[in-house]
Amino acid sequence: MSLKFTRELIGLSSFDVKSIESIEGGWVATLTPALQSYICPLCCKPSTTHARVKDRRLKHLWIPERGILFVQVPVIRQRCNDCCHTWSLSWPQIPQRGKVTSTFRQLVVNLCDQKTFALVSKETGVAESTLSTWFYDWAPTQLPHPEDHQAPDYVCLDEFALRKGHQYGVCLQDHETGHVWKTGMGKKREELQALLRSYPFSPPTAIVTDMAPGMAKTVKEVWSETAVVIDKFHVIQLLTQALDRARKHSMTYATQHLAIRQHKRLLMAPPATLKEEEREKLAHWFTHDWRLEELYQATQALRRVYHLPTYQQAKQAFQAWVNRYQFSPNSAVSKVVKTLIQWEEELLNYFHYKITNAKLEGTNNLIKTLKRRSYGTPCLEKMTVRIRLECQQPSK
Ligand SMILES: [Zn+2]
Repeated sequence: MSLKFTRELIGLSSFDVKSIESIEGGWVATLTPALQSYICPLCCKPSTTHARVKDRRLKHLWIPERGILFVQVPVIRQRCNDCCHTWSLSWPQIPQRGKVTSTFRQLVVNLCDQKTFALVSKETGVAESTLSTWFYDWAPTQLPHPEDHQAPDYVCLDEFALRKGHQYGVCLQDHETGHVWKTGMGKKREELQALLRSYPFSPPTAIVTDMAPGMAKTVKEVWSETAVVIDKFHVIQLLTQALDRARKHSMTYATQHLAIRQHKRLLMAPPATLKEEEREKLAHWFTHDWRLEELYQATQALRRVYHLPTYQQAKQAFQAWVNRYQFSPNSAVSKVVKTLIQWEEELLNYFHYKITNAKLEGTNNLIKTLKRRSYGTPCLEKMTVRIRLECQQPSK
């Protein structure tokens, strides 16, 4: 490596490269200050070098598969010729303390953005705990600031597992951009209230959520003007889950008459996508299981409600759906109807705003990926930084 090339590679303009030598696991570049004279910071008069205390060796660059380039810089004390003030010279990128330059620290932090701490630690020889400290010192400075953005009209509220079955977090996400603005712990009333109160914008026009108990009421308590919309996929899921349970009770027929791969497909695929012979099979299945048919018909009927274009049409059709199924002798059907009656206002609000939680899918997948990369024990605060850093960024 030529010294000129090395100087550019090193990128520390306050220094000249005096020499470079290979060592075990990399190189050491010995640097000398480019300037010969320094001005007193107190009186602006010239100064002279008072002492050259020692040299410091700092990690500066990590070159993949090659090693680490260290820089060796002098510690120099200056004395003012006029006021006798003494001080240590300092240079950009060279912290007063520690064994790495800020270039090195940033380079390693950037690696942690896409890789696990364990892997980066193995590659660069920096301890995992140090990596974690560096990363979480830096990451919050990269997050978007609410002051730079417009308040979202619509927000989504959904939960995500921090530890499956044990700990759940919830997040408030801009419906349009998908950016997560706020996260909190759990869905208890007090927890949700705290989350909504700490939301960094004025309350949105509408919020879309799942059907957690007390959800609509809790939102109203904090955001009295905001309309609550229950997520259409969660609504349909109530029925498809019941349908799936009914299918499992209908296995005697299914195993005798149908191929295994058909069981689910016949029931779950949109009827329009089934072939004629499949529809016949389904019809025949239903002649042996009226409960299954009732659930199936109720599911398709509610799906049709969701396709209606206006609020008025949907309201009438939903009322007709309730009348048709609420006293069904099939308790699996009437149970779902009973639940949805309680959510009528929020269900029909969908037709005013047409918003769903679909945007959160991306975030939920991201969270799964982040958890797979496993950054130690899930901690909401750190997880939030990761989520906010990596989720869809808000538009200005
Ligand atoms: Zn001075």
